[in-house]
Amino acid sequence: MASMTQHANTIQALPFLPYGRQVIGEDDIAAVVAALRSAWLTTGPRVNEFEQAVADFCGVRHGVAVSSGTAALHAAMAAIGIGPGDEVIVPAMTFAATANAVVYQGGTPVFADVEADTLLLDPNSVKEQISARTKAIVAVDYAGQPCDYKALRAIADRNGLRLVADACHSLGAESDGKKVGTLADCTVFSFHPVKHITTGEGGMVVTEDAVLAASMWRFRNHGIATDHRQREAIGTWQYEMVELGYNYRITDFQSALGMSQLLKLPAFIERRRRIAGQYSEAFSGSPAIRPLAIRPETVSAWHLYVVQLAGGIFREKAFRQLRERGIGVNVHYLPVHLHPFYQERFGLRPGLCPVAEAAYEVILSLPIWPGMDDDQVARVVREMSALCDNRL
Ligand SMILES: *Cc1c(COP(=O)(O)O)cnc(C)c1O
Repeated sequence: MASMTQHANTIQALPFLPYGRQVIGEDDIAAVVAALRSAWLTTGPRVNEFEQAVADFCGVRHGVAVSSGTAALHAAMAAIGIGPGDEVIVPAMTFAATANAVVYQGGTPVFADVEADTLLLDPNSVKEQISARTKAIVAVDYAGQPCDYKALRAIADRNGLRLVADACHSLGAESDGKKVGTLADCTVFSFHPVKHITTGEGGMVVTEDAVLAASMWRFRNHGIATDHRQREAIGTWQYEMVELGYNYRITDFQSALGMSQLLKLPAFIERRRRIAGQYSEAFSGSPAIRPLAIRPETVSAWHLYVVQLAGGIFREKAFRQLRERGIGVNVHYLPVHLHPFYQERFGLRPGLCPVAEAAYEVILSLPIWPGMDDDQVARVVREMSALCDNRL
């Protein structure tokens, strides 16, 4: 009995800290309830409002809201015309969806390596991977920090390539004083609960290009040029499917949640920045815990707080010890070309992207989300120190 009580107390005192999670307030709940009470559950007025709000936030003209970040990547690949025989350069260090979207279109993802200190797409590796079949580059703003878009834009322009940003980590970030959303031809966001704002599932592509936007609006609705609401407004039942699309629509109540969350995005990012600052300060003297380098021209949105372990701290042991103590560390990511599907389908092997592969062995993502309080941050720092003290 005594030990059960103690066990219960321990659990209560030390709740599991996930690496990321949503923050939902009563205002969000009220916004969703209002949408549920309205006439529109799926594509209604809130979808367009949400698209415009995100586009305005980024300082671009168009937003195309879809059912996930993955659907947004797929829509972007379709809009820029990726098809069989086309190659698209993607970083090895990303979530599999970045490359999967190329494969959905019948294209071939070609993996480029990343820089050792930031784990961002290395422009020199991109150059080496360009062939006569290359059509586009997808940059991934790993952990929330924008890539070197100046270099990537120069490479894209010189070679007649499209530049797409997978900004699922970097909503609200900046580079050279320019907002993410304005740095590529198309910029993709995810609204999964671990991302900066959530709609449950959801995603968006923002672009300055009206032709690309129109193509993506069709793509999310079966390739049909008008939606149900537009037809109702002009009093017609007629529609034409002009190309092959999908049902990638987001709902009106998800868009209501997205708009409510967007109001709090600056505060969410500010809280993430403060947590990251506390970690960086705590680890600054440690040779064993090395945070990612920050490029001076960027303002990160801090989706992840990634450290590279050194000095005799082994990742597997660190992962196990921290998880046992309720610290929900994670590993982002196994380099995509090492997944069995990519090895088998495209004949890829270890050794293709040595920097990403070496980083994979030593990276750990620490808990960071806007609802974390200072005590929770201090607890993570304490457990990281214990890890260093125990290593001998
Ligand atoms: C989250 C994420 C995606 C996919 O987003 P979903 O909304 O989960 O489909 C794609 N790329 C990166 C880099 C991501 O982090």
